[in-house]
Amino acid sequence: MNSVNPSSVSRRAWLHQTLQATAGASLLGSPLGLLAATPAAGHVVVLGGGVGGATAAKYLKLFNPALKVTVIEKNRNYIRPYGSSEVLNQHASMDELNVGYGALASRYGVNFVFDTVTGFDPQARTVTTAGKQSIAYDRLIVSPGIQLMYSAYAGYTEQVANTAIPSGWIPGQQTALLAKQLQGMRQGGTFVLAAPPNPYRCPPGPYERAALMTEWFARHNPRAKVIIVDPKDSFVTDESMMLGWNRLYNFNLPDDYSKKMSPQVELLQHATPGNLTWVRGKDGGRTLKVDAKTMRITTEAEDIKADVINVIPPMKAGQLAATLGLTDASGWCPVERATFKSTLQPHVHVIGDASVADAMPKSGFSANTQAKVVARAIVDELAGRPVDTAPVWENTCYALAGKDYGLFVADVFRIRDGKIARTNGKERYLPLNATPAQIKLGARYQQAWLRTFTQDCFA
Ligand SMILES: Cc1cc2nc3c(=O)[nH]c(=O)nc-3n(C[C@H](O)[C@H](O)[C@H](O)COP(=O)(O)OP(=O)(O)OC[C@H]3O[C@@H](n4cnc5c(N)ncnc54)[C@H](O)[C@@H]3O)c2cc1C
Repeated sequence: MNSVNPSSVSRRAWLHQTLQATAGASLLGSPLGLLAATPAAGHVVVLGGGVGGATAAKYLKLFNPALKVTVIEKNRNYIRPYGSSEVLNQHASMDELNVGYGALASRYGVNFVFDTVTGFDPQARTVTTAGKQSIAYDRLIVSPGIQLMYSAYAGYTEQVANTAIPSGWIPGQQTALLAKQLQGMRQGGTFVLAAPPNPYRCPPGPYERAALMTEWFARHNPRAKVIIVDPKDSFVTDESMMLGWNRLYNFNLPDDYSKKMSPQVELLQHATPGNLTWVRGKDGGRTLKVDAKTMRITTEAEDIKADVINVIPPMKAGQLAATLGLTDASGWCPVERATFKSTLQPHVHVIGDASVADAMPKSGFSANTQAKVVARAIVDELAGRPVDTAPVWENTCYALAGKDYGLFVADVFRIRDGKIARTNGKERYLPLNATPAQIKLGARYQQAWLRTFTQDCFA
């Protein structure tokens, strides 16, 4: 067992230690020589070239360049979901969300097959595609992301989402449509964002999106209203996010939050509340139906006439996971925790949003750190070495309450009692008493993270 912790050492040091473990200390001195000395050990096929899949492919080749690694991905370019709400407030363009696969192919020797996976034979160990290809593998990594359950609300369908009430939680044409609707909304209009139930991709994301639009409207459409309707009563980063809203948008916190937070931080009580409202589950915020013709959204509490509606519906593992028999009744993919090996199919590892990872959120950061741990486990297993049974994972979600108002949640995870649990020694969130400089720095970290994270996954 090797207990090297990728979170506690720099990436370079971690790679160095991994190389040592991989090829033996006697070959140290030339990392490349070390890598080359690792025995060739088969073919790993990765399904899905998103955050999880791309990172896994890159790190498999870094850990053992002799390994053959093939990514099967349906799109020639990846549209990154993380940072995609910044298209709505004109902070980024749709083009800036595009990420190519050239670097993974040319720098690391990852093979790409651009095709849609349609099935597999777990006994023969072959994957089949819509283009009638059959590709053999020794190990399979599946990182298919999510699918949106449009039909969860009466009146909502994929067709309605594509044409009138976009979701944009898988970025693409719906993101562009939503941006156009929001930026063209009539003066004084109402924007309703329907937040999803747990578990969902990117826990602070819906609230960040609402905040960024409230900020944008203040400049371009100052009487516009933003209403978040929510089936939940709380969300990750809620205290630090709402403190930002309180300061930036005259948002008055719900009483229970005010009581809890006011001993730690000064909260402003605004005689005239601002234009951002959060309707919680306990106040009837759960969405029941939408009507695209009349642009109405009905929750348990009320019927709201809106100008723009953004529904983020419930979600489950990407369709590919179900097609391959990797999902259970929950709609997600159960895995052995240390290796993310599927408990339902042999020789398959499921990572990223689709996997059941207990306390780990469905985030890009999580998918990236899971990919590295799995790449390491596969390289070790194929080389006949023991596999780490006590890995450490980490996650940091940066989020914006405004363009210059950054906050975060940061966690370290280990296996406890058979489940992945948080084991932080320190505070998870931006402290409520953070200084203005720390808050501004948080926003700079978020922007820097978008760049360096994309490089770590795709370049
Ligand atoms: C608005 C928003 C903001 C976010 N912000 C953050 C953030 O700040 N920090 C953070 O860590 N995370 C963030 N996320 C979440 C993050 O983007 C996801 O958690 C991450 O992309 C998950 O990676 P994945 O590999 O599981 O899935 P994906 O990245 O979605 O990749 C899945 C891939 O599989 C491919 N695929 C699916 N089916 C098939 C098939 N049959 N054949 C071939 N290919 C297939 C898809 O084309 C896709 O490329 C955000 C998400 C959103 C929506």
